[in-house]
Amino acid sequence: MMEDGICFEDVLAELEELKRRDLGYTRILSSMCTHPHPIAKIAHNLFLEANLGDPGLFPGTKAIEEEVISMIAALLGDRDATGYITTGGTESNIQAIRAFRNASGKDGENIVVPASAHFSFDKIGDLLRVEVRKAPLDGEFRVDPAAVEDLIDDRTIGLVGIAGTTEYGQIDPIEDLAKIALENDLFLHVDAAFGGFVIPFLDSHPPFDLSVDGVSSITIDPHKMGMSTIPAGGILFKDKRLLELLSTPTPYLTSKAQFSLTGTRSGAAAAATYAVLRYLGFKGFKRVVDRCIRMTKMLKDGASSFGVVPPVEPVMNVLTLEVKDLRQVIRELERSGWRVSVTREGFMRLVIMPHLTEPILQEFLDDLKDATGN
Ligand SMILES: *Cc1c(COP(=O)(O)O)cnc(C)c1O
Repeated sequence: MMEDGICFEDVLAELEELKRRDLGYTRILSSMCTHPHPIAKIAHNLFLEANLGDPGLFPGTKAIEEEVISMIAALLGDRDATGYITTGGTESNIQAIRAFRNASGKDGENIVVPASAHFSFDKIGDLLRVEVRKAPLDGEFRVDPAAVEDLIDDRTIGLVGIAGTTEYGQIDPIEDLAKIALENDLFLHVDAAFGGFVIPFLDSHPPFDLSVDGVSSITIDPHKMGMSTIPAGGILFKDKRLLELLSTPTPYLTSKAQFSLTGTRSGAAAAATYAVLRYLGFKGFKRVVDRCIRMTKMLKDGASSFGVVPPVEPVMNVLTLEVKDLRQVIRELERSGWRVSVTREGFMRLVIMPHLTEPILQEFLDDLKDATGN
């Protein structure tokens, strides 16, 4: 830090200069984040100082969080579920597995997750010292329930299913996993970080949420398809006792205990999430999701017309494509400002978020056609 500060305008000029280096989202097809909804930005700014880590000082903000949790609980199949607003999918997943571990009372525990699980589960293995067993996938990149069953032993504390995998947007067979969980007296966590704000709005979908008997908890990220501001995640537990197992006494604060992983936490993101949910309602979200699904189909059909096809049919707004000389193609696309990503199996991965438009995607298709030599 310098001895003397600089003037207000100069600080802002520096920030604006640095911000210009950021890519913006216009040509980004690699991210599950997007521009926050305009009402989310306004709500966020109204609550910048609100700290949900000390809720007695912010009873209004606390009421906002409770209302958000109740709206999300209803969306995800159990009005009575309890939880809180986290910093994102990673914290939500950590907290779910931490609660399972605290409930199990076992030693040297393990969990069984799909091989497609988000890397947050590798962090969980390291943090909680729980062995993370990875079950192989079927031909459509969904976890194979028989393989999950094979990995269960007397030290297993819980299973994980993914509703909207990060790489393929696939939905694991949650009902099958729930049946296995019930039969083996195990917890089942559903990671719907991405899919939570997509699947409920699809015209049809398999059961995936807390309405399925045997599902103990679910992760959902408002800062992805919920169009809230970062950091907004969500964790919900069907049984309040699991949440209570995360409780730590908080001397000198207005509350007696807290169950969040972080101490000080953003009331702004909670307000932003509240604003989007109230403003859009179910129908508004459905319009957003319908539009993303339409654009996904347009991209799939467009690429197929010049021989670039998906390895698996997209079920939500995540599209993968089988592309020859992928690295070379990506280098070419990047020269035109596009950003795409690659799955572990080596397919091009595209996430069709609300910031994209049909004309932009047509430009992308033209550049993809050139880059693949078609
Ligand atoms: C994005 C994602 C996460 C991690 O969420 P963060 O908000 O980045 O911490 C976890 N699981 C799935 C399925 C995801 O798509």
